[in-house]
Amino acid sequence: MRCPFCGTQDTKVLDSRLVSEGAQVRRRRACSHCQERFTTFEVAELQMPKLIKNDGSREAFDEDKLRSGILKALEKRPVSTEAIETAITHVKERLQATGERELPSRVIGEAVMEALKGLDQVAYVRFASVYRSFKDISEFRDEIDRLENSNNTPPQEN
Ligand SMILES: [Zn+2]
Repeated sequence: MRCPFCGTQDTKVLDSRLVSEGAQVRRRRACSHCQERFTTFEVAELQMPKLIKNDGSREAFDEDKLRSGILKALEKRPVSTEAIETAITHVKERLQATGERELPSRVIGEAVMEALKGLDQVAYVRFASVYRSFKDISEFRDEIDRLENSNNTPPQEN
């Protein structure tokens, strides 16, 4: 691993631990040359199924899109980043567990609903009520953006 500060290849691992329920390895590293410390995350590269959209076109699985949909639903909710990453991992595992090379895009929406149900009830209802009338997760995200932009009243605090 190259040092991001000075560029030398000579860095060493100080400490490794599993995070996201074992789906990631977090490593603390130190540069032997400039002594700077940094952190890396290691994640297994897994083959995700392609998504079949409602119009029949195929789309590569997009983790960023998945994450932004989940983050939208969880906006201002008291849920830790760690719990969110774990939920994203669960959604991906669920898609992989089907063993299919292609899946209807609604399967991912349903997996997200399941994950949110276990994470935060408000986020779950938010996602489920909006998502069910949409064809896929990117449409859901666009709709939430639209609703937020058209809503000028300040958010209510509980
Ligand atoms: Zn260095």
